[in-house]
Amino acid sequence: MLNIVLFGPPGAGKGTQADRLKEKYDLVHISTGDVFRALDPESDLAKLAKSYSDKGDLVPDDITIKILESEVTKYPNAKGVIYDGFPRTTGQAKALDLFLAAKGTSVTMMLSLVVPEDELKTRLIGRAKDSGREDDANPIIIQNRINTYNKSTAPVADYYKGQGKLIDINGVGSIGDITKSLFDSIEITK
Ligand code: AMP
Repeated sequence: MLNIVLFGPPGAGKGTQADRLKEKYDLVHISTGDVFRALDPESDLAKLAKSYSDKGDLVPDDITIKILESEVTKYPNAKGVIYDGFPRTTGQAKALDLFLAAKGTSVTMMLSLVVPEDELKTRLIGRAKDSGREDDANPIIIQNRINTYNKSTAPVADYYKGQGKLIDINGVGSIGDITKSLFDSIEITK
């Protein structure tokens, strides 16, 4: 199984690139952010998740891990999975390792899109017009998301580096060029 953790700060282009990887390698694309946004807005779980995401904070690990595991379980015949926006803490990364080990598989690689902070802010503000996401439109929330990434999420790259699975990809440039870098890394590694 090809299990790719597509990593990077908010606005790095994970969703766009995940669509292309999914197409090329026939993978299931799981974005925990998308899963949270797709919950019935009247449900307790959706309200709870929104109380964190509206502020740009992370949803607690126990809830997020359960959501991720139940999503993966929906695709028993998947050739592979792109994990987009998960894991975002080392606790989540450890849980994913255990979950995949129980299925007799493991994370194949982490592809980490590297984009400078100023560029992220410009992209998120631009994206807000199309995404309609409040957390993309508000500069204070954007800053909190970036701070949360630096504090809680960036260490996840070290976790996979320790396993020899981290591949940094320059996330600045044309979408096509970045896709090509991702494809090249997958071909070399898989
Ligand atoms: P995203 O669509 O990936 O930008 O995620 C939007 C929001 O959903 C984040 O700001 C978090 O509040 C929440 N979220 C998504 N994925 C996770 C995760 N793996 N851990 C905790 N919170 C998450």
